[in-house]
Amino acid sequence: MSQRATTETDGHYIGGEWTDGDGEDTFESANPATGETLATFHRGTDADVDAALSAATDAAEEWRSLSSIDRAEFLWDIYHELRERHEELGEIVTKECGKEISEGKADVTEAWHMVEWAAGNARHPHGEVVPSEVAGKDAYMRRKPRGVIGCITPWNFPVAIPFWHMAIALVEGNVVVWKPAEQTPWCGQVIAEMMDDAGVPDGVFNMIQGYGDAGAAIVDDDRVDTVLFTGSAEVGHEIAGSVGGEPGKLAACEMGGKNGIVITENADLDIAVHSAVMSSFKTTGQRCVSSERLIVHTDVYDEFKSRFVDLAEDVAVGDPLEEDTFMGPAIEADHVEKIRRHNELAQQEGADVLVDRFELEDAEIPDGHEGAATAADDERRASYANGHWVGPFVYEIEYDSDLRCLKEECFGPHVALLEYDGDIERAVEIHNDTPYGLAGAIISEDYRQINYFRDRAELGLAYANLPCIGAEVQLPFGGVKKSGNGYPSAREAIEAVTERTAWTMNNA
Ligand code: GLU
Repeated sequence: MSQRATTETDGHYIGGEWTDGDGEDTFESANPATGETLATFHRGTDADVDAALSAATDAAEEWRSLSSIDRAEFLWDIYHELRERHEELGEIVTKECGKEISEGKADVTEAWHMVEWAAGNARHPHGEVVPSEVAGKDAYMRRKPRGVIGCITPWNFPVAIPFWHMAIALVEGNVVVWKPAEQTPWCGQVIAEMMDDAGVPDGVFNMIQGYGDAGAAIVDDDRVDTVLFTGSAEVGHEIAGSVGGEPGKLAACEMGGKNGIVITENADLDIAVHSAVMSSFKTTGQRCVSSERLIVHTDVYDEFKSRFVDLAEDVAVGDPLEEDTFMGPAIEADHVEKIRRHNELAQQEGADVLVDRFELEDAEIPDGHEGAATAADDERRASYANGHWVGPFVYEIEYDSDLRCLKEECFGPHVALLEYDGDIERAVEIHNDTPYGLAGAIISEDYRQINYFRDRAELGLAYANLPCIGAEVQLPFGGVKKSGNGYPSAREAIEAVTERTAWTMNNA
């Protein structure tokens, strides 16, 4: 089931129909571990986006007229399908975006967590009864769907994040036009098939495959009431800027981070090392919440450094389909170059490089099976030579506010060690010295330090004695500063996909 024929060309899903669309161009999805083409897709045009928005607009009235509980019924079908097809879908995620299979499956798990939360929320109160100053007058806050929601999602969580956006949007009574990332169109196709199988009424959900030009056509169209975006800061700021100028239209954008972990003099170093390795290298550092800065107190610096460096030297970059692989390849060749540029920038700015496994030795390139003995194993090994492999890059550098390498997001297994001397105030000052504010953690056994970090660290997702990855859907997911404006995902996305009415009625 998870083998894709490379001969067929998949298209868009518009108004309940599969269509090749208006354009001639196609593009391919490739396995980052092998370079192998997985499938070919039609590339969406402005005309395709126009058709999808017309279908969505036509379907809006009927969909919003259903009760939220009836709307959620479609999502419950999808919830069961995600669970039943967990293994198979996890494998598709891994083949298409390269993340290790444990994370491929976790992506699917996160998707059903979100669907469960959004569909369950259909039975929860959707407003507030508010006291009035006047007897006999009723005052309420009621929520209504905003209308047409444009969703633009990234490749690094190609099943979870689309549901983080769309499950809530749909249950709240909106119609959706979605563009999956161009690196993960196969996951897009599978999700559209699920919506179709679940019988979501025609036009309520629409998917356009393609690149940024199709995304821009969604963002710019007047029929779109809210844009939900998760992805790079560059694109997110463009969207926020263009939508921000249009009264009545909203954009909720969740973007990158230059996330830090503070390890104080009171830290349990077992927890510190584990949290740092997980946060910096899991998913090959390609999460918006991955940590690229470790801010370590001088009293524990040398011991932490030696243990962290040993593990970074050892972390197995491997066949992403093997259960015990810690990290798979980077998403694509351009991204490998981007990581290279960040590693070089750190060196130009004076970094002392502690671990440089950017270009892996031949022996480190995964061979699929230890001691590959058969012809099939040899073939597999050969195919991995075309993968986008990168390994951990760890450096130490003296903290200086002017260093670009401490401010610019790499989105790879690239991490700085920064030694600090002083109190928790100093650590948090260094922590906050980035334009971003998404996720971060403190490792400490002192509750006063933990509380100070919780209250003063500039971020949206704060952890204590844990890695700074692995957010749960029932909490808000988003950041401050350059990391975001509004919440496109999880619980708080309700604010972006509903309108509030202050409803006052004279019952006297
Ligand atoms: N859900 C992920 C986590 O908390 C992050 C999502 C992202 O990187 O975009 O680990």
